[in-house]
Amino acid sequence: MAERYYNYIDGEWVDAVSGETFENRNPANWDEVIGVFPSSGKEDVYRAVEAAKKAQKEWASLPVPERAKILGKAGDIMVERKEELAKLETREMGKILKETRGDVQEGIDTLYYAFGEGRRLFGVTTPSELRDKIAYTIVKPVGIAGLITPWNFPMAIPCWKMVPALLLGNTVVFKPASDTPATATELVKIMIEAGVPKGVVNIVHGTGSRVGEAIISHPDIGVISFTGSSAIGSRIAEVAGKMLKKVSLELGGKNPQIVMDDADLELALEGVLWGAFGTTGQRCTATSRLILHEPIYDKFIEMLVERAKQLKIGNGLDESVDMGPVINEGQMNKILEYIEIGKNEGAKPILGGKRYTEGECSKGWFIEPTIFIDVQPEMRIFQEEIFGPVLSVTKAKDFDHAIELANNSTYGLSSSIYTTDLRKAMKAIELLEAGITYVNAPTIGAECHLPFGGVKNTGNGHREGGKWVYEIFGEIKTVYVDYSGKLQKAQIDTDLNK
Ligand code: NAD
Repeated sequence: MAERYYNYIDGEWVDAVSGETFENRNPANWDEVIGVFPSSGKEDVYRAVEAAKKAQKEWASLPVPERAKILGKAGDIMVERKEELAKLETREMGKILKETRGDVQEGIDTLYYAFGEGRRLFGVTTPSELRDKIAYTIVKPVGIAGLITPWNFPMAIPCWKMVPALLLGNTVVFKPASDTPATATELVKIMIEAGVPKGVVNIVHGTGSRVGEAIISHPDIGVISFTGSSAIGSRIAEVAGKMLKKVSLELGGKNPQIVMDDADLELALEGVLWGAFGTTGQRCTATSRLILHEPIYDKFIEMLVERAKQLKIGNGLDESVDMGPVINEGQMNKILEYIEIGKNEGAKPILGGKRYTEGECSKGWFIEPTIFIDVQPEMRIFQEEIFGPVLSVTKAKDFDHAIELANNSTYGLSSSIYTTDLRKAMKAIELLEAGITYVNAPTIGAECHLPFGGVKNTGNGHREGGKWVYEIFGEIKTVYVDYSGKLQKAQIDTDLNK
């Protein structure tokens, strides 16, 4: 019997008002139902917002280190449950255990970071231009935060949002992707066990078109934090932006790895295998474009194909597997369509390109690691986010051409260059149009204390991670305290030009 899951609203586990449900299945074995979840609607979101509103003032009145203590305890619980959570996540969304352990660890790191940050949250203190007056800043919560997350990092991404939102004193209404509602529910259970009071965290399961739309258009939600596709991000900016909410959007990518002829080719090879086929290519930071310097083009492709064809495809619970399934049938079909588009555009497929159905894999949504060479910048497979194990390889005449190719994208999340020439590495850091640049490392591997986000259509200028995320969930208040005992007028009483 599949496990039954519920929404968590105002401290109670409840069904959707409509009583409707949906099933969540294992993408590696479609026969396996992970759980049955409420298929919620606007009325459920409205109840969650009411609860969040009721709880917010009391939660915000706690000293920050007290809220931080609860988050630290959640980190301890997650450490205890790490292996079990990783297994659930692998069953729920398919990526291999090594990676789901990493995803849970990112959640733990984020919780412990917040535990420490609770005793910092530094503002700025600065001299005033007037005598007997001081100026400083403090940070206040926005109020209620609406969190909408994708399925590819079902623990890390919800933590990146929920943890800083809570630390600052916001209450939250959380809608996880409907492909990963079980991992999201476990996060909420951990928060409850750690001591988060009722109404502070509310989870509402369901589709983007019903639950998501109700969150982004609710007048009492002050900040929306969204991670997902650029198409939905743009829709959210339209609806929530018009209502003058704070909106943070972390969107798609088409991330390049450049390999110059002076690079350590073995290292670059390890990098691209991990960057392109890790998480079955379903990372916002996945390496989807490989830009090879002409002198090593043929040799590197030979090395790449030799290694990529040895990648073992299968159920991520098997520790010997390198690459799991893609998330669902719709996504599998979309990737297969892109493979056809690539062929029709004239790119040359040299590995993979098909659904993989050997043995047990016939029960799931698997695709072979796929490599196209001779990919030109005007092709759709060079430009559009495929979100699957498909790598497009392009030849660059020289360093300047490699940078030009890398920047020929509407996205700008991550980027990477492999070179042993310090000048080229530094120049690439300067010129690559991306929120993140790696040198001699693949395009993936974010750490929780550093800013994460991209330029161009990858987002709207915010950064998650570290102290930067606090700008999303906080409102900065500027404070002036005048202890002169008289009216002092800035810019008028002081003429610093004299
Ligand atoms: P998606 O945009 O389809 O869905 C993301 C979330 O938005 C889901 O919870 C979905 O239910 C919800 N949603 C859908 N329609 C909505 C609407 N109209 N209003 C409100 N919410 C709505 O993305 P996905 O398929 O879950 O994830 C893959 C995408 O996420 C890729 O484009 C990937 O690059 C991106 N991503 C970006 C980052 C980043 O940090 N930049 C990280 C991971 C994934």
